[in-house]
Amino acid sequence: MSRSRAEYEAMLDKCIAFHGHLCMGQILGVRVAAKGMELAAPATPRDIIVAVENERCIADAVLTVTGTRIGRRTLKLHKYGKMAATFLNCTTGKAYRVRVEYRGPQPGDDEIAMREILGLSDEEVVAWDEVNFELPEFEQPGRPKRIVDCSVCGEKVFDGKDVDGPHGPTCLACAQGAYYSIKVL
Ligand SMILES: [Zn+2]
Ligand SMILES: [Zn+2]
Repeated sequence: MSRSRAEYEAMLDKCIAFHGHLCMGQILGVRVAAKGMELAAPATPRDIIVAVENERCIADAVLTVTGTRIGRRTLKLHKYGKMAATFLNCTTGKAYRVRVEYRGPQPGDDEIAMREILGLSDEEVVAWDEVNFELPEFEQPGRPKRIVDCSVCGEKVFDGKDVDGPHGPTCLACAQGAYYSIKVL
């Protein structure tokens, strides 16, 4: 069941305000998120957790439409580089993965042509499956269940992200090498 064009346009306006421009990611993100919310049907905004599968434009549309947030642990990022997201109803435990299936003309930078995609049926834009998706204990929202000091750098490590090291709990940066290195001045 698609929603009305006007409903999608209202969602798109919010996405553009947050994301900063109109793009295919916002258009397709509106359709993916609207379908995911329809399928998961959370009774309240607290009932939804979303896993988004890339860190590009579509991620901003999905978080805007669903109200999920990285910092509230309700939005999970999986860097698959794919145009898809999974929507978990935390109360029912039911989860649905929605992916972009749009195969029509690519509008390029033509904003009017982009918006036409909002008028297409669900089947022309997205596809979906019911999936098993359970959050591990340390991925749940709410207060941290574990906080330790890294035995190497001394910095706090939340949420069980530490690993066992020769001197005790160790952060991933110390255990595996970090994405940064400190400049020797
Ligand atoms: Zn964009
Ligand atoms: Zn450390």
